[in-house]
Amino acid sequence: MPSFNSHLCVSAVGSAVLVAYGEAAYGLGHTTSALAFIAGVAGGALPDLDSDVSTPLRFSGLLGGMAAAAAVVGFGSSDAPWFERPWPPVSVALAALAAFLLFNALVVTVIRKSTVHRGLFHSLPVPFLYAGLFAMLVASQGRRTVVAVWVLAAAGVLTHLVMDAAKDLSLKPLKLASSDIGASTRLWMATALVNLFALVRPLLPLG
Ligand SMILES: [Zn+2]
Repeated sequence: MPSFNSHLCVSAVGSAVLVAYGEAAYGLGHTTSALAFIAGVAGGALPDLDSDVSTPLRFSGLLGGMAAAAAVVGFGSSDAPWFERPWPPVSVALAALAAFLLFNALVVTVIRKSTVHRGLFHSLPVPFLYAGLFAMLVASQGRRTVVAVWVLAAAGVLTHLVMDAAKDLSLKPLKLASSDIGASTRLWMATALVNLFALVRPLLPLG
């Protein structure tokens, strides 16, 4: 498979071109351009979450561990009657370290167990599921941002799938479903629902 860096390079260049076009043609503005660019670049790395040794997988583990440690620090150092807080700094540090190690391992294990490399994470609903989820996250930023982020997010993941397909001279990464028909159906249903929420509501002038 193409390396993590080549996926990131291609999705970064592609996203920069699309954002520049969006800025020139529609005047996207700084916030929208930045959000759309991030959605595109991250999308280029996303499908390899299913690889047992991938950088995105390790990164997700680190992020999970850091979030847990931050939550423990916030909990332990706040002044509250129960659990005898605030805790002494050494206890806070030890508890944060334990939370980091535990959640880092937990996130990596759960993702590893629930994915097969080049399985459903490398299939055609994924760009649209990811685009819909990212569009939902930025719904408060208005219609223009929702559309720009959706387009860049989907394009970012598509560059990944197309690169994998081109490298292997195989259409397998661009498949519609895997042999697990149940999981494939659920994935398409989730994709449809997420996009219904993400797009139809903000884009239809209902309110
Ligand atoms: Zn891949």
